[in-house]
Amino acid sequence: MITLAFYERRNGSVEIPFRERRIASRRMRSGAYSPERRRLISPERFQGRKTSETTAPIRINFELTPDQKALRDSVRAFTQREIVPVAAYYDRTGEFPWEVVRKAFDLGLFTNYIPKKYGGGGLGVFETAIATEEIAAGCMAMGTSIMINVLGTAPLLLAGTEEQKGRILIPYCRQLTLVSFCFTEPDAGSDPSRISTHADFKGDHYILNGSKCFITNGGVADYYVVFATLDKNKGTKGLTAFLTPSDSEGIKTGKILNKMGQRASNTAEIFFEDVKIPIENRIGAEGEGYKIALQSISKSRINVAAGSVGIARTAMEHALRHAQKRVQFNQSLANFQYVQFRLADMATQIEAARFLAWRAAWAHDQGYRYGKESSMAKDFNGDVVMKVTSEALDLLGGYGYSKDYPMEKLMRDAKLMQIYEGPSPIHKTIIYRELAKEYGF
Ligand SMILES: Cc1cc2nc3c(=O)[nH]c(=O)nc-3n(C[C@H](O)[C@H](O)[C@H](O)COP(=O)(O)OP(=O)(O)OC[C@H]3O[C@@H](n4cnc5c(N)ncnc54)[C@H](O)[C@@H]3O)c2cc1C
Repeated sequence: MITLAFYERRNGSVEIPFRERRIASRRMRSGAYSPERRRLISPERFQGRKTSETTAPIRINFELTPDQKALRDSVRAFTQREIVPVAAYYDRTGEFPWEVVRKAFDLGLFTNYIPKKYGGGGLGVFETAIATEEIAAGCMAMGTSIMINVLGTAPLLLAGTEEQKGRILIPYCRQLTLVSFCFTEPDAGSDPSRISTHADFKGDHYILNGSKCFITNGGVADYYVVFATLDKNKGTKGLTAFLTPSDSEGIKTGKILNKMGQRASNTAEIFFEDVKIPIENRIGAEGEGYKIALQSISKSRINVAAGSVGIARTAMEHALRHAQKRVQFNQSLANFQYVQFRLADMATQIEAARFLAWRAAWAHDQGYRYGKESSMAKDFNGDVVMKVTSEALDLLGGYGYSKDYPMEKLMRDAKLMQIYEGPSPIHKTIIYRELAKEYGF
């Protein structure tokens, strides 16, 4: 059908077949579309807007490349060998899984996405999403502790100078280094204009004071990327990003959050008292912090979306196996059509969630705008993983509710996927804003 998509594509780099072009323009001229529709699909409305929809070439291929399959298989094998056997232990104790983290570093999971010139693997967000799904299928808490480094290093990759990248990222690729992203504060969650951690410029350095909360890998990280205001009256325009070693004088770790789920990931309060930050550790220009944070989180949300797919997939697999084995009313549960339909719905939602995550990752890696796609994936997949884990637990009946089975952990871990890196209203706001732009409103 030749409708809006035709005009969207026409603004991109895609060759539209001659016949399609002729029919669509004839329809426009002949008044086959209502005036409102003509206005809506007018090519001028999309001029200058490069979204993945308006510019993406139509070269769809749902098959992973041999390298991507090899990556997926090696991370899947790693997860089965190193993560699954110890996931319940770390969940119970809340200890930080150092051993797993070290092995994950050796496998390249901390550095795959860093450009080759700094010693990384030079892979894209798409490959990171593939790896995250696999780790999350074993334990999302460990996935969070590993993948938070993608967020922690994003400000450097996006806005760091060559000197900073060389100084930090080359050693980062050589030995295990944890980098935390310190944005949230007790009074500033979804609303970053309330950030009150402040930095005062003192000639050749800054002095940082304030506190952050809910910091993943807080207390175990080697570096903190801290977002602080230089002038609170400027709101988000006053924010600036700084990098500081975690052992700098004046940095203290506060309370470790006693969490409902994802208990193997450390989440802590961090206090900064007169912390001296040399000017060469400022990332980007003064006042650019908010933009840097938004771009970093937008990229990292794709991993969160992929993580949701991993948790949901494992929950569905447990439910499927249980339904096949469990006999009630002289037949396996899987014989009941109602049970089949519930499993079918889970599988469909998981597939849709994976494609949303992959599409956002693909748009990022191809250089298209991806903010809307990233928020769609994060928001939708957070709901999918909650629905699927709840349904799957239900299919295990009383066993699902028992700590002797993995379902309750999956459901507890899933809840965080809706909360961190922005709750739902934030994503719906981003999606609507982009939508309105695309349609020229
Ligand atoms: C385990 C964990 C790890 C985390 N790791 C990190 C980290 O490494 N670094 C970091 O900086 N932060 C981290 N966070 C913080 C996380 O990103 C925030 O918790 C999240 O952004 C939400 O902020 P908040 O908790 O202050 O909730 P609030 O912003 O107070 O939101 C509370 C409720 O209000 C709703 N709400 C908010 N705004 C609106 C609105 N405009 N319209 C309608 N409803 C709204 C929300 O949907 C939510 O239901 C982590 C949090 C947790 C729990």
